Amino acid sequence: MKRILATVAIALLTGCNLARAQDEPIDVEGPPAELTGLKLEAARIVGDKQKLTQEIVDSLFSFSELGFQEFETQRYITEILENNGFTVEQGVSGIPSAWWATWGSGKPVIALGSDVDGIPKASQMPGVTYRKPMIEGAPGHGEGHNSGQAVNITAALAVKEIMERENLPGTIVLWPGIAEELVATKAWFARDGRYDGVDAVLFTHVSDSFSVSWGQPTGTGLVSVEYTFDGTAAHAAGDPWKGTSALDAVELMDVAWNFRREHLNPLQRSHYVIVDGGDQPNVVPSKATVWYFIREMTADNIRENFAKLQRTAEGAALMTDTTFTRRIVGAAYPRHFNKPIAEAMYDNIRAVGMPEWSEDDQVFAKAFQEFMEADEITGLKTEVEDLGVPLEEPKSGGSDDIGDVSWNVPTVTLRFPSNVDGSTGHHWSSAMAMATPIAHKGATAGAKVVAATMLDLIEQESLVDAAWTYFRDEQTANETYVPFISDTDKPAIEKNAAIMAMYKDKLREFYYDPSKYDTYLEQLGIEYPQLKDPDAE
Ligand SMILES: [Zn+2]
Repeated sequence: MKRILATVAIALLTGCNLARAQDEPIDVEGPPAELTGLKLEAARIVGDKQKLTQEIVDSLFSFSELGFQEFETQRYITEILENNGFTVEQGVSGIPSAWWATWGSGKPVIALGSDVDGIPKASQMPGVTYRKPMIEGAPGHGEGHNSGQAVNITAALAVKEIMERENLPGTIVLWPGIAEELVATKAWFARDGRYDGVDAVLFTHVSDSFSVSWGQPTGTGLVSVEYTFDGTAAHAAGDPWKGTSALDAVELMDVAWNFRREHLNPLQRSHYVIVDGGDQPNVVPSKATVWYFIREMTADNIRENFAKLQRTAEGAALMTDTTFTRRIVGAAYPRHFNKPIAEAMYDNIRAVGMPEWSEDDQVFAKAFQEFMEADEITGLKTEVEDLGVPLEEPKSGGSDDIGDVSWNVPTVTLRFPSNVDGSTGHHWSSAMAMATPIAHKGATAGAKVVAATMLDLIEQESLVDAAWTYFRDEQTANETYVPFISDTDKPAIEKNAAIMAMYKDKLREFYYDPSKYDTYLEQLGIEYPQLKDPDAE
């Protein structure tokens, strides 16, 4: 039955021939037929909104804002939402660049989220297959977080149009992943009750493939924490015996942790940067700060390693006659995605299928992979992935604070195909495709899937019930969510302010102007796909 429905839906949603397909009898019984009709219509509306999708993708790319400083993004996105009848609350959870937008009333309450922040030093010209920063040293969208809001907004507007006409009850919430690269806000949103009363969260994230999974995916959870040591300043040559060095404490702590790694579970990941190592060599540093990410596969193991790190800091303070304070900067619970919603979304992924890539898109992708010295030159993917299921062997990797959301409300992450396989993560290469037709088409395909899954939830109360049954009886039956942050931990909103202050004026010269240019590539004068730098010797 499911297969028949999927086949019908594939026939309906993939063809550009939507009008003809709509007239054909649909070979399924009961509500699914009507539902399939609505999904088909949502896909058509999303298709009609491709221009909006492209403008959002390109605009956020051009703003190039780092976590906690997404103010142009906030201004631009919330204006679109307000113009479309959403009620917008700004600065939620004490995070000035955050917002919360709602429309509609009653159940189900469906909350769509996606990250918006960029990566330091990842400035890169889009649509070209060579290294060229737009602004040397500036931030850029080196993860492709410029694309997810376009997916969610386009989907939300399409479904809203249908809900209004059909008089369907339900509430749509649109929220941003602020400072995801610091994994520093979603646990705060959850702590502050932002997901109370929400029936389902559909989260979207850029990828080079089209996929969804349930259970725990590849990757870790983490605690992000800064330790600041306090010592005593002294003339480093005149009377060094009067000083106690905070930097010594930081260095001893780091050395100890590097020894400790040998005796930790090999799936852990931990890394640090010294944020403040003192001012100048001839002054014994009275203050020094080191910033750690402690990652592990389970919440208990994260807590255990965090306790070890804490003891390491205590040891370093003892050895140096210094004192210290600590601050939680970010937190991400290991993720767990909802099975019934993932299965429903997967049927929609299959129905929508991969975007139709042009010859130019494939030429770009292959040249990009050659430039990145990929093992295989495969071009853009043309098949959707299988439904992701829990891994037999847990696999370590990155984290996302959507984990905290996933322990508060049934949640899935849609990975939509807006980027090219072969890029390096958290790196300028991940920005190269992110304001090209590849990113635009991937976002449109993603929006069709989000819209169809929203309609699944709106039209089938049984899906919402099944999602909560899984959440209560399976996901949380033997594991209780105990947040890594306390009631008093504050979001680290000062992060990245200095960097953005340095680059904002230069970035402004590159902001996309949709009133003058059809696309951002046109504004930049890029002949997509541009494989050679015209300015190179
Ligand atoms: Zn991300």
